[in-house]
Amino acid sequence: CGIVGIVGRNAVAGQVVDALRRLEYRGYDSAGIATLESGRLERRRAEGKLSNLQLKLLQSPLAGAIGIGHTRWATHGRPNETNAHPHATERLAVVHNGIIENFRELKAELQAQGCVFETETDTEVVAQLVSHLMRGGLGPVSAVEAALPRLRGAFALAFLFAGEEDFLIGARHGAPLAVGFGDGETYLGSDALALAPFTDEITYLEEGDWTILTRDGAEIRDAAGHVVARPRQRIATQA
Ligand code: GLU
Repeated sequence: CGIVGIVGRNAVAGQVVDALRRLEYRGYDSAGIATLESGRLERRRAEGKLSNLQLKLLQSPLAGAIGIGHTRWATHGRPNETNAHPHATERLAVVHNGIIENFRELKAELQAQGCVFETETDTEVVAQLVSHLMRGGLGPVSAVEAALPRLRGAFALAFLFAGEEDFLIGARHGAPLAVGFGDGETYLGSDALALAPFTDEITYLEEGDWTILTRDGAEIRDAAGHVVARPRQRIATQA
């Protein structure tokens, strides 16, 4: 029930967990994080409290200056480690808040084309759909742009791509998502509170917006694909 993304300068796993802790108030049953280590996707996930995830990170630390994290409140699929986000393919990892209402038909369509699913979640169709489009020749940005109009329901998403150390993609469709601007670092979060330890300079995505986050800032596009300007605000939250 919480999303975090960081395009950072140093190892981000600790910051991602800090931000997830600030989203605990929303409730959750499991948590997870993915980063890129030399371009390779690495994940740690755990059932239950964030302290379980932190224990895993202690035993098996994650390097990587770019990453995404999630606290899950299961709607489709049991609250276990397999169903915990991020969901990943060989190409990408994704975290998701909300529900993909048409996941059954998308899953059937993708399975008919040879995609093999690993989880019981609605979220995995997003990972599989974007991967499928990439195997068909689209780059990450075009693949997300092509996938978003196919998803029904209320959701927020964050994507991390194998081999792409310099950007993340976020999308808002019925669930809030904020972009935070730091000093050579850029953040994505379900709300400004999650990002308060890092920055008070925030832009809330508007309905249908999606964004490409880099260390220099964020390009925001609307549902029609046009680059748009959204106001930056100073949010007075206690870090
Ligand atoms: N529907 C997704 C799932 O059950 C996401 C739930 C959430 O918002 O945490 O995995």
